[in-house]
Amino acid sequence: MRIGFGYDVHRLEEGHDLILGGVDVPFEKGTVAHSDGDVLIHAICDALLGAANLGDIGYHFPDTDPVNRNLDSTQILRYSLKLIHDAGYRVINVDTTICLQKPKLAGYIEEMKKSLGQWLPSEVLSIKATTTEKMGFVGEGLGISAYAAVLLDR
Ligand code: MG
Repeated sequence: MRIGFGYDVHRLEEGHDLILGGVDVPFEKGTVAHSDGDVLIHAICDALLGAANLGDIGYHFPDTDPVNRNLDSTQILRYSLKLIHDAGYRVINVDTTICLQKPKLAGYIEEMKKSLGQWLPSEVLSIKATTTEKMGFVGEGLGISAYAAVLLDR
């Protein structure tokens, strides 16, 4: 068994979409990113790749490559899962936390789990959300971050 950990952060600005777990969350601001800026999927993928010691998403999907511009992050998830499956691993469970001051995400979590369910069934995927009590870059609404922990078995 192997544990992986992932972290991602993006800036939030007006005029961008807020995509989380493949779900377009309505809000006046969204993530500034080379890809679609889905911090939840990016944290999960880094945890998956880290558990299998297969690098990180910056290595597999460099933001200097124009091919990755506005990339749908579910493609990164599918590719990361393929890499760990090819290495002989299966996912036991994934636990995540999204840190965001506004908007409240509680009403979107089931939708995110459904959106990711075809790759990570809901019984293995936990999605949680928290504010940071108005402190720091998340609390001031400047950015969003996400953490993920993964357990793999071979
Ligand atoms: Mg990212």
